[in-house]
Amino acid sequence: MAPAIDQVATFELPSYKSADNIDLSARIAEVRKQLGSKLLILGHHYQQDEVIAHSDLRGDSYQLSQMAASSSDCRYIVFCGVHFMAETADILANRPEKLTERDGERVTVVLPDMAAGCSMADMAAIEQVEAAWEDMGEVIDTSRIIPVTYINSAASLKSFCGRHGGIVCTSSNAAAVLEWAFERGDRVLFFPDQHLGRNTSLKMGITNEQMPVWDPYADELGGNTTAAIDNSRVILWKGHCSVHQMFRAEHVDQFRGKYPDIKILVHPECPQEVNDLADISGSTGKIIETVRSAEAGTRWAIGTELHLVNRLKAEHPEQEIHFLSPVICMCATMYRINLAHLCWSLENLAAGTIVNQIEVDEETSRWSLVALERMLEVK
Ligand code: SF4
Repeated sequence: MAPAIDQVATFELPSYKSADNIDLSARIAEVRKQLGSKLLILGHHYQQDEVIAHSDLRGDSYQLSQMAASSSDCRYIVFCGVHFMAETADILANRPEKLTERDGERVTVVLPDMAAGCSMADMAAIEQVEAAWEDMGEVIDTSRIIPVTYINSAASLKSFCGRHGGIVCTSSNAAAVLEWAFERGDRVLFFPDQHLGRNTSLKMGITNEQMPVWDPYADELGGNTTAAIDNSRVILWKGHCSVHQMFRAEHVDQFRGKYPDIKILVHPECPQEVNDLADISGSTGKIIETVRSAEAGTRWAIGTELHLVNRLKAEHPEQEIHFLSPVICMCATMYRINLAHLCWSLENLAAGTIVNQIEVDEETSRWSLVALERMLEVK
């Protein structure tokens, strides 16, 4: 019998919150044993260690969704990440060929805390993007604009890209995706992260003057002149990651002043001033691989999410690793997923009640998949 779905179930805070981590861990392990290979718990790199300890797979958002979608046994994905990641997992795990393989049986995707959103993804609502597209159409030919969305965006935006000849990118393939876009159009609308769009485009020789920023709250043309839009190559959406936005040029200067041999390693979601000063800029995967393959004794200051940097420190005692900022830069929304929420969602699942299911509607999934598959062809 199919399990009951209770999407409005509320987290029974007192009983789970009062349980200690040892108790919660034992209960989580029990559910994992009970559901066996039908269950996959996915842990994003930015997740806290207690949760990562229970993850079957660890990775960035796209790697995790792909790994989960390739499993033939899995029927439940519990995504310890944020909302848009769970949406992507639902789209990939339930794409038509996968449903055929499973005789139509869907994989259920659960986000242990529905409040685990992403501030960056929330900065571009589909209504705002559609309104912007219409406004741009007053001054330029939108059939020659290729919309590119960073994977850190709602499924509705991925679907918009699918419908308009556009594509999804990750932080590791953004340059290749932009090249793909320029083979098909004259300009790009890049959302929701202005910094990834800018840092990638600058490396490709596009200048800041050719990259106006579109502010969805401005009265006209996203706060730009007609000439600025007309001369644009990449129109950047005014969005950013609240975590990576906090790294500053002075943090780089302070570390270089103290340790002249230090290597600065940052994520391209950091602002341009930080990327320009860094020795290396790259995706989460590149950051991990760079540290892993470096000579023992290398000194690093790393500008990315705190939990990942702390885990790199713990896993690479042969390296000297510093966090680039003096203030705490952590993904507060992802941090909402703790052992109590994980245990609550799992115990409900084991009892036959699905709580906090993430399910993308068919039309949105179909067009999102078009944009995601275009990205896969680029690699
Ligand atoms: S680190 Fe930034 S982009 Fe990533 S999930 Fe958190 S808020 Fe979103």
